[in-house]
Amino acid sequence: MHTYIIALDQGTTSSRAVIFDEKARVVAMKSYEFEQIYPQPGWVEHDPAAILNTQIDALREVVRISGIPLEAIAAIGITNQRETTLLWDRKTGRPLYNAIVWQCRRTAPIIARLREEGLEKHIKATTGLVPDAYFSGSKLSWLLDELDLHERAERGEICFGTVDSFLAWNLISGRPHVTDATNASRTMLFDIRKNEWDDTMLRALNIPRAVLPEVVDTSGVIGMLDPSILGCAIPVAALSGDQHSALFGQGCYEPGMMKNTYGTGCFLLMNTGDQPASSKSGLLSTIAWRIGGKCTYALEGSVFVGGAAVQWLRDEMHLIERASESETIARSIPDCGGVYMVPAFAGLGAPYWDMYSRGTIIGLTRGTGRAHIVRAALESIAYQSCDLVNAMAEDCGRQPTELRVDGGASANQFLMQFQADILGCQVIRPAVIETTALGAALLAGLAVGVWKDMDEIRKIWRQDLSLVPQKGEAWRTQALAGWHEAVNRSMNWAKQ
Ligand code: ADP
Repeated sequence: MHTYIIALDQGTTSSRAVIFDEKARVVAMKSYEFEQIYPQPGWVEHDPAAILNTQIDALREVVRISGIPLEAIAAIGITNQRETTLLWDRKTGRPLYNAIVWQCRRTAPIIARLREEGLEKHIKATTGLVPDAYFSGSKLSWLLDELDLHERAERGEICFGTVDSFLAWNLISGRPHVTDATNASRTMLFDIRKNEWDDTMLRALNIPRAVLPEVVDTSGVIGMLDPSILGCAIPVAALSGDQHSALFGQGCYEPGMMKNTYGTGCFLLMNTGDQPASSKSGLLSTIAWRIGGKCTYALEGSVFVGGAAVQWLRDEMHLIERASESETIARSIPDCGGVYMVPAFAGLGAPYWDMYSRGTIIGLTRGTGRAHIVRAALESIAYQSCDLVNAMAEDCGRQPTELRVDGGASANQFLMQFQADILGCQVIRPAVIETTALGAALLAGLAVGVWKDMDEIRKIWRQDLSLVPQKGEAWRTQALAGWHEAVNRSMNWAKQ
């Protein structure tokens, strides 16, 4: 009989369930979208019941459509949108507020206070992060203040959790209050070296320890699925943040290996081995996974506007009708004719960190046409990713030999070839591009013995497409010089 593993991929806009077989092939997949709630400008929330119900529906439905007998399912792994913050009553399990989503900026004033108090250095050194409203810590602090919950929290009546925690509590018999080390490392409350909650941050944000979950391994049996959900108990054997899971699903098990996910934004993560790297360019240090109590670390950087630049061409500029059309149009000309686009719609992140930078298209001549702009938009995704790769290479003193890619825009072969050319290294797309879900399935399968050890796991990853650089060093230097000059011209704009 075959063995199967289910990955639950609880994302920002949808909840998915994917069934993999023991060769890590996708057997069935189901997802349900849920509502985004915007109570005020800059605020983003999710209804906790919607998160839970869509996830349970996706799980039940994927099992039904696959026709697989429940006894053949060896384990369930959970991966999730990160940093999103929930609070619930320990006795009743009732959520006390909507989930505050990672994108939500409401706690910016709390972050400003932490900076004023001089905590930036401590935050970097201890949590690997930069002080930002993005992470869970300030969101949790805000909730305790806003709902006046400090006394109840001290008495242990309240549970805090990220989405992994919330799902584990609600899906596993006995309601364990746990989170895994990767999710903990996104709270801005966790010491990633010592692997424990950090008292300085808890004090600074006035958070009692009694609200915090126990931190468990990324791969390991936490408990059994509550039989009321599928009618039988199945081990829940992995919890991991989505980008960490994708790094695992991409087979980046050795230091120096990296993956880039090309979605709305791009997420680049590089395995840095058994030590966190400290970054000179403001990249984040994070726990990649914790297995058998041992941490592997990663550097992380993100491009704010990746595939979103293509959406902009389609929805605002009406230069294309479908995202995929951008490839044919880009290929219709030999180069951009000196045109560069810097899609700094919301400022620039690492390595520039200029919130006053704004979108720029530069180098226009009378001969510039639609194709040049479309091509320049695609190239900008690769240039921004290249800047991140180079920053990582500098931080850890090693040049990458390959970049593994996934996400919606990795379907664009022009973009992937340009990425290889501008990096001067191989770009590889795997056979299974559901890498986030795959990572969770592998981590869960590893915990229950579907795969014996990391050697067996290593054999699973397969490439589909491999692109080698077709341009030389001189071309690369010149192209990058033009890009960096264009970035310079986009900077500081919104200050004027
Ligand atoms: P997310 O998970 O962030 O929603 P996806 O991984 O689904 O993102 O990727 C969607 C993004 O990829 C969109 O921004 C879209 O514009 C872009 N995209 C999808 N297909 C292509 C393509 N063939 N060429 C360029 N961009 C694409």
